[in-house]
Amino acid sequence: MSSATFLGMPPFPEAARTAVQDSRLRHNLRRATHTIRDKRGLVVGELGDDWARLRAEGSEIKTHTLRHLDHYLEQLEESVTRAGGHVHWASDAAEANRIVTGLVQATGETDVVKVKSMATQEIELNNALEAAGITAYETDLAELIVQLGEDLPSHILVPAIHLGRSQIREIFLDRMAEWGTPAPPGLTDDPRALAEAARAHLRERFLRTRTAISGANFAVADSGTLVVLESEGNGRMCLTLPQTLISVVGIEKIVPTWSDLEVFMQLLPRSSTGERMNPYTSTWTGVTPGDGPQEFHLVLLDNGRTDVLADTVGRQALRCIRCSACLNTCPVYERTGGHSYGSVYPGPIGAILTPQLRGMGSEVDEALPYASSLCGACYEVCPVAIDIPEVLVHLREEVTGRGGHAGEKALMAGAEAVFSSPGALGAVQRAAGAARSLVPRHLPGTAGAWTDTRDVPDVPAESFRRWWKGRDDEREDGR
Ligand code: SF4
Repeated sequence: MSSATFLGMPPFPEAARTAVQDSRLRHNLRRATHTIRDKRGLVVGELGDDWARLRAEGSEIKTHTLRHLDHYLEQLEESVTRAGGHVHWASDAAEANRIVTGLVQATGETDVVKVKSMATQEIELNNALEAAGITAYETDLAELIVQLGEDLPSHILVPAIHLGRSQIREIFLDRMAEWGTPAPPGLTDDPRALAEAARAHLRERFLRTRTAISGANFAVADSGTLVVLESEGNGRMCLTLPQTLISVVGIEKIVPTWSDLEVFMQLLPRSSTGERMNPYTSTWTGVTPGDGPQEFHLVLLDNGRTDVLADTVGRQALRCIRCSACLNTCPVYERTGGHSYGSVYPGPIGAILTPQLRGMGSEVDEALPYASSLCGACYEVCPVAIDIPEVLVHLREEVTGRGGHAGEKALMAGAEAVFSSPGALGAVQRAAGAARSLVPRHLPGTAGAWTDTRDVPDVPAESFRRWWKGRDDEREDGR
């Protein structure tokens, strides 16, 4: 058994070039994203103007919480501790992995079940556990498919969105036996049959495993309550049956109170699965004698988040509630799929969050702010009004400021010089008009990629200013 990793993936332009040639991938993505997107449109539409109000409120609550994050984090720690839980602080992925591995080792168990969690994927917890001889079993259906297939997730909500039913059937038949209960021999690619095979495979695991690892969609500071929203019931099993529960949660997941939570309970299901509410909403507060896990650990993860918080433009990315609406609406994601982004956070949110969390020290991270057409569709659907295009442009400025994309920078400097001088602009316009027949239909070099699918606009023989001046001259002559 081994876990795949995004390490060593090529930068977005290269990965995307390969991905767009995969017609099966494009078909799977188009069908899945359009289905979720249409469902979202219906349930958001039925709220009318209330949706805009909810969205503004969600955005305000998150902005306020992030501004006072130190206060709410301390309050959360107090509340969780008071309720019988233990709080651990992890400044980076290595520290979080060390803490979780130590906690599992202390239970004496070598198997853990997992609830779907972006934070644990971000820190590659499964790999760290595997190195310590602990096997982590994913229990979310899509995560299970990805794990069995030794694949990588490609969507925040539906990690196996890139796979079709027949591919999933093959994975189940080939790999399930190695991980536990095998798939039934005559398994078809009927969704019900596939779900039934996963259910039989997982149930035995739920009943046997005594330690679980989860993330959380929200952490309520004043009560110390953690909240997981899900659709399959696997989360509920992991959160209630085991003896020990370890939750790894990003520090930005805090909401101050239960009434704040109410806003997100309306925003998240509608934006993510296109439902009015999730089939399963699990909440837990510390430990309760005789009911559920008797030992609870909360690992609060920074891993670059406080650096993001220091950036006045980029910090809005921390408002993200991981609904994935921006992925489902993005024309770039729909064509390239999630793997091209080289991170567990794909799509528009990944293009702004990953380079901020990891820093833009690598070619992969430096390319991400350019993985967008800046059409703005992501901003329109975001339930917490994150202005993703604004952050993309901001990060592009940072890339060019460091000397990256030198050609573009030189071009912009030239444009600035020309447009800030009427004399220079006039001279360039006259020269362009005189040489208009020489302008090529296709630009040379890398700029050629742009003209492969677009026409270079015709250069007019005469500029507007010249035409206007000529018109004035004619009037004066006629007087
Ligand atoms: S950025 Fe907005 S739309 Fe995208 S996943 Fe986050 S909350 Fe959802």
